Amino acid sequence: MEKDCTFCKIVNGETDTQFLYQDDTLVVFRDINPHAPVHLLVVPRKHIRSINDLEKEDSTIISHLITVAKEMARQEAVDKSGYKLLFNVERGGGQLIFHLHLHLIGGW
Ligand code: AMP
Ligand code: ZN
Repeated sequence: MEKDCTFCKIVNGETDTQFLYQDDTLVVFRDINPHAPVHLLVVPRKHIRSINDLEKEDSTIISHLITVAKEMARQEAVDKSGYKLLFNVERGGGQLIFHLHLHLIGGW
């Protein structure tokens, strides 16, 4: 848990954010400022700043994020129409919250 990290607070249940899915590794919730009809965030419980900070042992977390994102796309019925999976990396890459997260965007 990183002090003053918005997503650490969310994954630790310190906010009223509704989870669409959660397990020991990650949580999924809706983006508060959606860029598309479906815009979910898949967020590991572990505080990792960005893709740049991934360690070798984090590879199972990343594969799990993607696998759960695929399941969420099906659950949100955007799997057939198509969707984007996106990591913004650091400021120049559009990252605003420095706790790793995968955007699932679709439903156009
Ligand atoms: P990024 O620009 O990749 O860091 O994305 C951060 C995303 O988090 C943005 O799309 C925000 O709209 C979203 N966001 C920020 N605070 C919250 C929150 N409390 N609940 C849900 N989504 C949030
Ligand atoms: Zn954090």
